Amino acid sequence: IEFEHCGFPETLNYNLKNSGYEVPTPIQMQMIPVGLLGRDIVASADTGSGKTAAFLLPVIIKALEETKTPSALILTPTRELAIQIERQAKELMIGLPNMRTVLLVGGLPLPPQLHRLKQTVKADTMLKMGFQQQVLDILENTSSDRQTILVSATIPVGIEQLANQLLQNPVRITI
Ligand code: AMP
Repeated sequence: IEFEHCGFPETLNYNLKNSGYEVPTPIQMQMIPVGLLGRDIVASADTGSGKTAAFLLPVIIKALEETKTPSALILTPTRELAIQIERQAKELMIGLPNMRTVLLVGGLPLPPQLHRLKQTVKADTMLKMGFQQQVLDILENTSSDRQTILVSATIPVGIEQLANQLLQNPVRITI
């Protein structure tokens, strides 16, 4: 199957093509339909698997139908990853009506080590860095009927426990 046969908005198909995306990767094949259904997801997939677009595409498509804003919140353990995800989101959102992103990072200047953009960042990093309480505090202030998608390279026991606490009957996807 190709993206252009998935029934996505025409502009989105155009953006996908321009970004060089023609065929969904395996993680995208599994995550996009489940994401569009509104189900919670726990997914594990390696860097380079296309997991960013796997959650961005349902987020963008659902945001197009959403009237209340902001319609999505993406939490990452590092600012580099946040920048990378925002860049990909902007690319996919070109020309789509009423869509914008806001990047929120801590007060430190952007480190010059751009190679870190490429480094693997796992959800367990959120725990190791002691972000768990912050994540819980933030999610406590989001809508209780939210859709929650957790993506990580690995799902260690700590993440499993966090997932059980934060997600409702999640679909588990492993690539
Ligand atoms: P990620 O695993 O999300 O870091 O993505 C790895 C790289 O694959 C990024 O450069 C994406 O732009 C690219 N990518 C993601 N999905 C696709 C796709 N379906 N076809 C071609 N490239 C893709």
